[in-house]
Amino acid sequence: MSEAECIFCKIARGEMDAEVVHDEDDVLAFKDINGKAPVHVLVIPRQHVANLEEIGDLPDAVVKRLFEVSSAAAQKLGVTEGGYAVRVNNGPDAGQEVFHLHLHVMGGKRLGMP
Ligand SMILES: [Zn+2]
Repeated sequence: MSEAECIFCKIARGEMDAEVVHDEDDVLAFKDINGKAPVHVLVIPRQHVANLEEIGDLPDAVVKRLFEVSSAAAQKLGVTEGGYAVRVNNGPDAGQEVFHLHLHVMGGKRLGMP
Protein backbone atom coordinates (compact mmCIF):
# COMPACT_ATOMS: atom_id res chain seq x y z
CA MET A 1 0.00 0.00 0.00
CA SER A 2 1.35 3.42 -0.86
CA GLU A 3 1.84 6.07 1.78
CA ALA A 4 -0.74 8.21 -0.04
CA GLU A 5 -3.42 5.58 0.60
CA CYS A 6 -2.26 4.35 4.02
CA ILE A 7 -4.90 5.33 6.57
CA PHE A 8 -2.38 5.81 9.37
CA CYS A 9 -0.33 8.14 7.14
CA LYS A 10 -3.57 10.03 6.46
CA ILE A 11 -4.21 10.34 10.20
CA ALA A 12 -0.60 11.45 10.71
CA ARG A 13 -1.03 14.11 8.01
CA GLY A 14 -4.32 15.28 9.49
CA GLU A 15 -6.28 14.16 6.44
CA MET A 16 -8.37 11.72 8.44
CA ASP A 17 -9.92 12.23 11.87
CA ALA A 18 -8.79 10.35 14.93
CA GLU A 19 -9.21 10.84 18.64
CA VAL A 20 -5.65 11.86 19.36
CA VAL A 21 -4.22 11.07 22.77
CA HIS A 22 -0.65 12.25 22.23
CA ASP A 23 0.83 14.29 19.41
CA GLU A 24 4.47 15.09 18.77
CA ASP A 25 6.86 15.53 15.84
CA ASP A 26 7.67 11.89 15.11
CA VAL A 27 5.09 9.85 17.02
CA LEU A 28 1.32 9.98 17.29
CA ALA A 29 -1.10 8.13 19.59
CA PHE A 30 -4.82 7.87 18.98
CA LYS A 31 -7.74 5.74 20.09
CA ASP A 32 -8.49 2.56 18.14
CA ILE A 33 -11.92 2.97 16.55
CA ASN A 34 -12.56 -0.75 17.07
CA GLY A 35 -11.15 -0.84 20.57
CA LYS A 36 -11.06 -4.27 22.20
CA ALA A 37 -10.43 -3.00 25.72
CA PRO A 38 -11.71 -0.01 27.74
CA VAL A 39 -8.40 1.66 26.90
CA HIS A 40 -7.11 0.81 23.43
CA VAL A 41 -4.71 3.24 21.85
CA LEU A 42 -2.54 2.89 18.76
CA VAL A 43 0.93 4.41 18.76
CA ILE A 44 2.52 5.03 15.38
CA PRO A 45 5.65 6.58 13.95
CA ARG A 46 4.70 9.39 11.56
CA GLN A 47 7.19 7.93 9.10
CA HIS A 48 5.66 5.06 7.16
CA VAL A 49 7.19 1.68 7.87
CA ALA A 50 5.03 -1.36 7.19
CA ASN A 51 6.18 -3.72 9.93
CA LEU A 52 9.00 -4.80 12.20
CA GLU A 53 11.04 -5.94 9.20
CA GLU A 54 11.32 -2.26 8.25
CA ILE A 55 11.91 -0.87 11.73
CA GLY A 56 15.56 -0.26 10.83
CA ASP A 57 14.35 2.56 8.58
CA LEU A 58 13.30 4.52 11.67
CA PRO A 59 15.82 6.59 13.62
CA ASP A 60 16.72 4.87 16.90
CA ALA A 61 15.27 7.76 18.90
CA VAL A 62 11.88 7.29 17.24
CA VAL A 63 11.84 3.58 18.09
CA LYS A 64 12.48 4.53 21.71
CA ARG A 65 9.78 7.20 21.59
CA LEU A 66 7.19 4.64 20.46
CA PHE A 67 7.57 2.96 23.85
CA GLU A 68 7.81 6.19 25.84
CA VAL A 69 4.66 7.51 24.19
CA SER A 70 2.94 4.17 24.91
CA SER A 71 3.71 4.75 28.58
CA ALA A 72 2.62 8.39 28.39
CA ALA A 73 -0.69 7.40 26.81
CA ALA A 74 -1.25 4.74 29.48
CA GLN A 75 -0.56 7.31 32.19
CA LYS A 76 -2.86 9.85 30.59
CA LEU A 77 -5.68 7.30 30.40
CA GLY A 78 -5.12 6.05 33.94
CA VAL A 79 -4.14 2.42 33.41
CA THR A 80 -0.55 2.34 34.66
CA GLU A 81 -1.56 1.11 38.11
CA GLY A 82 -3.79 -1.70 36.87
CA GLY A 83 -1.34 -2.46 34.09
CA TYR A 84 -1.56 -2.56 30.35
CA ALA A 85 -0.28 -4.51 27.38
CA VAL A 86 1.83 -3.14 24.52
CA ARG A 87 1.51 -5.36 21.48
CA VAL A 88 2.65 -5.40 17.89
CA ASN A 89 0.61 -7.61 15.60
CA ASN A 90 3.09 -8.21 12.82
CA GLY A 91 1.74 -9.66 9.59
CA PRO A 92 -1.55 -11.27 8.56
CA ASP A 93 -1.36 -14.33 10.82
CA ALA A 94 -0.96 -12.03 13.82
CA GLY A 95 -3.97 -9.98 12.82
CA GLN A 96 -2.17 -6.91 11.49
CA GLU A 97 -4.85 -4.99 9.59
CA VAL A 98 -3.08 -1.75 8.69
CA PHE A 99 0.38 -2.20 7.22
CA HIS A 100 1.88 0.79 8.95
CA LEU A 101 3.75 -0.33 12.06
CA HIS A 102 1.76 0.38 15.22
CA LEU A 103 1.80 -0.52 18.89
CA HIS A 104 -1.46 -1.44 20.60
CA VAL A 105 -1.68 -0.08 24.14
CA MET A 106 -4.50 -1.93 25.89
CA GLY A 107 -5.73 -1.71 29.46
CA GLY A 108 -8.68 -1.21 31.74
CA LYS A 109 -9.50 -4.90 31.94
CA ARG A 110 -7.79 -8.19 32.64
CA LEU A 111 -5.75 -9.11 29.56
CA GLY A 112 -4.48 -12.60 28.96
CA MET A 113 -2.10 -13.80 26.35
CA PRO A 114 -4.00 -14.52 23.14
ZN1 LIG B 1 1.52 4.69 6.54
